[in-house]
Amino acid sequence: MAEAASRRISVLGATGSVGVNTLDIVSHHPGRFEVEALTANGSVDVLAEQARRFGAKLAVVADAARYNDLKAALSGSGVEAAAGPEALVEAAERPAELVMSAIVGSAGLAPTMAAVRRGAVVALANKESLVCAGELVTSEVERCGATLLPVDSEHNAIFQVLDRAQLHAVEKIILTASGGPFRALDRTAMAAVTPKQALAHPNWSMGAKISIDSATMMNKGLELIEAFHLFGLPEEQIDILVHAQSVIHSMVAYKDGSVLAQLGDPDMRTPIAYALGWPERIEAPVSRLDLAKVATLTFEAPDDRRFPSLRLAREALRAGGAAPAVLNAANEVAVEAFLKGGLSFLGIADLVERCLQENPEMPPQSIEDVIEIDQRARQSAKAALPKMAATP
Ligand code: NDP
Repeated sequence: MAEAASRRISVLGATGSVGVNTLDIVSHHPGRFEVEALTANGSVDVLAEQARRFGAKLAVVADAARYNDLKAALSGSGVEAAAGPEALVEAAERPAELVMSAIVGSAGLAPTMAAVRRGAVVALANKESLVCAGELVTSEVERCGATLLPVDSEHNAIFQVLDRAQLHAVEKIILTASGGPFRALDRTAMAAVTPKQALAHPNWSMGAKISIDSATMMNKGLELIEAFHLFGLPEEQIDILVHAQSVIHSMVAYKDGSVLAQLGDPDMRTPIAYALGWPERIEAPVSRLDLAKVATLTFEAPDDRRFPSLRLAREALRAGGAAPAVLNAANEVAVEAFLKGGLSFLGIADLVERCLQENPEMPPQSIEDVIEIDQRARQSAKAALPKMAATP
């Protein structure tokens, strides 16, 4: 059957795990998508190769010092090169119908908001922007007539099974969690884990930051906050359930006792294809779920004691105001420090908790406020790092 009319897209964070998977789906649908802009932080060679291959109009590196390298790598291609944070925002402002927001961390906030403000369809992988600035993002989505399509597999699953016209009949949303590589480890063993062990996720292949977040289960905490903003249900109605096989991507329980779930092999190309094709479903080159082969699905309650990040995220959501932005910024600093060997695995949640206690910030009224809170929390997390590193 003929493909539908082509859709112009931009991919922010094109060189990352979600970005590469996005372009993989694009490459499986020749003629269906046109690429407007692609961005990266500093991966110039990969970005230039992608821009040439997909005929992008614009390629942007966030790191301004890499501008000349990018320009040289794109020489003769006809692709425009740009660099720096303003250029990232410009990439999001370019006239693409759909923007894949797949930058990692709060660096994704300003470009995501730029896409929202011009009323685009925003396929949102960058959960940190909703964690930091949930109310501000969702109110701008409303005001500007934008559409948010969740790409995170759990939220994408809920998006697929949530009957928004029956929100009053929803008892709860159940976010499933794989439990990460340390699901069965005790705290003593966790104290000694290395970045290499923490990066080895049992089910999903992802970027470094989200892999560490999965190991601490902060990822599920961030997803709790993300779900709160995306689906308009109170925090008490969002549960977390550990499901080691990552086959059920999430569920919605209704008041008649029905529980609706979305299942699939753990491959991000399924939710990405869903978002790229929406409202149509398009082919994704993923393995098909074989439940006879999976045979057993297991479930267990999450353990806040071994994974305190879950508790911290729920507390930050309850506290509201600046707390989620502080939680996120401190976590970004902590994860980076852990990956560089400057903080223990258990130190990640300790540092986040310390920053949450030390940061009685005013609730943000604007994106500029969020950015300021984010910067201050980063400074205070970095200042606390030497003390944390010294604590056994
Ligand atoms: P990666 O680390 O693999 O990729 C991140 C992308 O963002 C890269 O293109 C990177 O460029 C770019 N980038 C990094 N820092 C900056 C910055 N300061 N300014 C601008 N661009 C930057 O991340 P993932 O693809 O794993 O994750 C992206 C987002 O999607 C995260 O928010 C994550 O939580 C979310 N997500 C990811 C999933 C996954 O399967 N990976 C699943 C669900 C959600 P460069 O290559 O040059 O460094």
